[in-house]
Amino acid sequence: MQEKPYVTVVIPVYNEEPNLPPLINRLYPVMQQIGRPFEIIFTDDGSRDDSLSILSQMAEKYPEIGVIEFNGNFGQHMAILAAFEKSHGEVVITLDADLQNPPEEIPRLVAEIEKGHDVVGTIRQKRQDTLFRRVASRIVNITTNKMTGMQMSDYGCMLRAYHRNVINNINRCEETTTFIPALAQTFSANPSEIKVAHAERAEGESKYSLYRLIRLNFDLMTGFSVVPLQLFALMGILTSVFSIAFAVFLLIRRFIIGAEVEGVFTLFAILFFFIGIIIFGIGLVGEYVGRIYQEVRKRPRYVVRKLHGFREN
Ligand code: UDP
Ligand code: MG
Repeated sequence: MQEKPYVTVVIPVYNEEPNLPPLINRLYPVMQQIGRPFEIIFTDDGSRDDSLSILSQMAEKYPEIGVIEFNGNFGQHMAILAAFEKSHGEVVITLDADLQNPPEEIPRLVAEIEKGHDVVGTIRQKRQDTLFRRVASRIVNITTNKMTGMQMSDYGCMLRAYHRNVINNINRCEETTTFIPALAQTFSANPSEIKVAHAERAEGESKYSLYRLIRLNFDLMTGFSVVPLQLFALMGILTSVFSIAFAVFLLIRRFIIGAEVEGVFTLFAILFFFIGIIIFGIGLVGEYVGRIYQEVRKRPRYVVRKLHGFREN
């Protein structure tokens, strides 16, 4: 690969065989047009189609291309992190392989970094995804901003640019479940957002089933905030307070009107009080488990089987 690239493009690939040739054909001219040394790092995330052989051929043909071959499917975010660790560019761009993010937007992202921003996020204009995905994203964007105190308009768009400083900090993190745009945001001193075009997936299907989407969003929520746990504990306290108020109400009522259905509701009030305490207890345990969980994640995050086209191997 190149000696000292200025721009690194990072692309995670999972079963994207038909998309790879058109992607390269569009990406290469764009990168050459920038006129600075560049490198393109693909991570093959355990593809079961012919993506890997296409990529390794490209690594042989083009000096700027390197391919990290994963020993299985470790997920889009791990694929990107592995490429970050191999990257040398002053500016690092992430991109999807399915041509949903037009490579033609890259020079605008680079220009935005050169204005002095360390993270450039993007907002997809006329997003070409299902209505369900668009609505779900909107909810996630709003709640995540509320819970983490961050400000980002579009957490899901992976067409992003990062300055080397931010990448170095991300490389120091060892967390196994993460969400890269949010992680980068925590290290950013001067983030910016620009609007970019968005296209339909060129070929194939989305690699995210509903279940994987939900899991990914749990990573986003729990990885960057303990608010869910805190809400749980608060809910327990509120239940207890309300049931005490209810018990007092029943006691007064008993003196003025007399007992209700043979004291059944009094029992309910007491019951709710204990349920409240139990929920609170679980929430409290969750607080500790959550913190321990954050500390013990020491497993290898991904396993690289082979490197293609890198100098050092
Ligand atoms: N991807 C990956 N590993 C996975 C799932 C996805 O490397 O386990 C890659 C995929 O090849 C694509 C990018 O991540 O380049 C985004 O995936 P996809 O287009 O399926 O997600 P969507 O656009 O539906 O959010
Ligand atoms: Mg896609």
